[in-house]
Amino acid sequence: MAANAEKLLMEESRTATARVLMVDDDDMQRLLARTALENAGFAVIEAGDGSELLDAFHAHQPDIVVLDVLMPVMDGFDACARLRADARGRHVPVLMMTGLDDLESINRAYEVGATDFVTKPFNFEILGHRLRYMLRGKRDADALRASEQRLQLAQRIARLGHWECDGEGRFTHWNRATHSALGLGPATEVGGFEDLVGAVAAEDRERFRDMVARAMRRGEDFTLEFRMRAGDDETRDMHLVALSGQDDDGRRRYVGTVQDVSERRRAEQKIHRLAHYDDVTGLPNRSAIRTGLTEALAQASRHERVLAVLAIDIDHFQRINDTLGFASGDELLRAISARFRHTLRISDTLDQAGDAKLRDALGRAAGDEFIVLLPEITAAEDAAVVAQRLRSALTKPFQIGDKEIHARVSIGISVYPGDGASADELLRHADAALGQAKREGRDCYQFFTKQLNASAFKRLTMEMQLRGALERGEFVVHYQPKLGGDGELRGFEALIRWIHPELGRVSPAEFIPVAEETGLIVPIGEWVLSETCQQLVRWDAAGLGPFKCAVNVSGSQFRVRALPERLARVVTAAGLDTARIELELTESMLMEDAALAIETLDGLKALGFGIAVDDFGTGYSSLSYLKRLPIDVLKIDQSFVRDLPGDEGDVAIVKTIISMARGLALRTVAEGVETAEQRDFLRDAGCDELQGYLFSEPRAAAEMTDWIVAGGGR
Ligand code: C2E
Ligand code: MG
Ligand code: MG
Repeated sequence: MAANAEKLLMEESRTATARVLMVDDDDMQRLLARTALENAGFAVIEAGDGSELLDAFHAHQPDIVVLDVLMPVMDGFDACARLRADARGRHVPVLMMTGLDDLESINRAYEVGATDFVTKPFNFEILGHRLRYMLRGKRDADALRASEQRLQLAQRIARLGHWECDGEGRFTHWNRATHSALGLGPATEVGGFEDLVGAVAAEDRERFRDMVARAMRRGEDFTLEFRMRAGDDETRDMHLVALSGQDDDGRRRYVGTVQDVSERRRAEQKIHRLAHYDDVTGLPNRSAIRTGLTEALAQASRHERVLAVLAIDIDHFQRINDTLGFASGDELLRAISARFRHTLRISDTLDQAGDAKLRDALGRAAGDEFIVLLPEITAAEDAAVVAQRLRSALTKPFQIGDKEIHARVSIGISVYPGDGASADELLRHADAALGQAKREGRDCYQFFTKQLNASAFKRLTMEMQLRGALERGEFVVHYQPKLGGDGELRGFEALIRWIHPELGRVSPAEFIPVAEETGLIVPIGEWVLSETCQQLVRWDAAGLGPFKCAVNVSGSQFRVRALPERLARVVTAAGLDTARIELELTESMLMEDAALAIETLDGLKALGFGIAVDDFGTGYSSLSYLKRLPIDVLKIDQSFVRDLPGDEGDVAIVKTIISMARGLALRTVAEGVETAEQRDFLRDAGCDELQGYLFSEPRAAAEMTDWIVAGGGR
């Protein structure tokens, strides 16, 4: 025997004495075996027949069984089969002793679960060695089994499954843990990735399939995050990792894991909520506001928009806390935040506002301080309007417990780009302005930039003054003529004027935006239309017409329901044909909401109105879209006319617009024609109509009548 093996056996014999159960009907054989095995360091238990095997096994728990094949009552085959069927006898090594050196009984021995066999007669010295080798194999197998069980347990705890698949995504290994990690029912057959798709949550299915297919095509490693349907309205978050490799034959294969990470996700979400939201009001906290503001700033700078930050502090909040207690203080904070949300029409929280369409956002900075972001205002002064609205929202007292509480706030406003370019700077300046508001005696708002206080005041007064202007008859319509290339009068544009008793003449450029925001533009616009129609009828009656007249329609009017019908009603009420009215809409209005624009324009067209695109060239028209709009006229914006004919760029633009309009069978009108050179150039370039101070500024009806009678435009 090799020295090595001997050493090994010595070592083995030093471990606890192994017990051998010797089952043989031949007393002599048993005795010989016992002697040899005891000499070799085993303890021996004997049984005389297969039928005694199980009892002896249970009574003595041997480490190994030596089993004769031929026995009178029950042979070794049956005895071995019974032992294997017993829960405790499943793994014990069984050595079959067969006198029959034929293949069939050897096969049979293995079939009934024998571990190994020896044929009689055999050398008893060797038997001991044989048994030791078997025991060692058994211990290795036991260790492996235990390790596998531990692994399985660990996988179950970690909700981790393991799988392997070929290059086509067909699983070649797929364990139970994988099945249960994915939450699949035991009956679900899984042959390949394709079989999993159905159980993936509907919204992730497409991506799941695409990513697996792409990774397989490229033979790359991949990771996938997806959700599995776990019930009617429950999903599990899954994390799948796949490593690409090759099998022994050089074919592509993947090994991977899949893990149920739902709990981790939930924990992450909770951490996120704790980190970004205030738990009293549920509003985003200061750090979330900073993030939102940074994103909003990036967008504002990209689109050259104005953005405002409002820092709002509840006046004397400490007093409320002191007298009513913290619980009531919290309740008041919640009630105030609810009114603010309502006023700002906020339904979404800040982190969802990060996407393309930014909305106003409300957050709680600390203690009794709220922050409002206004990412889409058109002018700094608009922030004051919102500040006013927020203050008004608190007019009605709060009912906290049995107490009625009047809350007032101080507001500081900073505006991008004027007051800073970074989130921190704007927040700091809003706070500084808030400090100023407090020093001013609280219950008011202050801009960080002092001048804005004055212009915001003007803006707010204007809003107030504008409210009664229509009733007080402060508006008038002026008319500006449009002339053909031959100098003949083709029609007019109606332009509103506001003559305020104190403010004096207010430019439409100033008050139209305010009228739009407040919704006053709707009655004002209809008044202009009605007034214009009546004037056209008067000119008809005086035998001066019939003229056509253009009337401006603003963006917020455009969104009024059933606008075409409403406008048509105004025109018919004056006893006029809608064909006499051309509605001017700006390019940006039409591009903002294409679907709505087409629908409304179709409606207006069907009712007989002419349509002109005002300020053409200043917006971002998509030409393919322009082609689909039912329009009649392009009004070339004054900015392109101003430097004609000297400016080469403008020359090119104007010529292009005119030839494009021709191609689309549209007429062109040039605005802001002030010089004879401009007139000549435009006429030669083929512009259909001209409008501008060269011919006449906009005039009130009576003066325009004089101008017409005097032969103006000829
Ligand atoms: P718009 O529709 O583009 O009107 C043309 C503006 O150019 C008018 O200014 C007009 O007075 C001015 N203009 C005319 N000829 C010349 C010229 O030769 N040189 C220069 N530099 N300017 C000229 P206005 O009347 O101040 O109106 C400004 C804007 O206010 C209008 O631009 C229009 O968008 C809006 N608007 C005026 N009236 C109404 C109205 O009744 N409803 C609506 N929604 N908007 C109106
Ligand atoms: Mg116009
Ligand atoms: Mg214009």
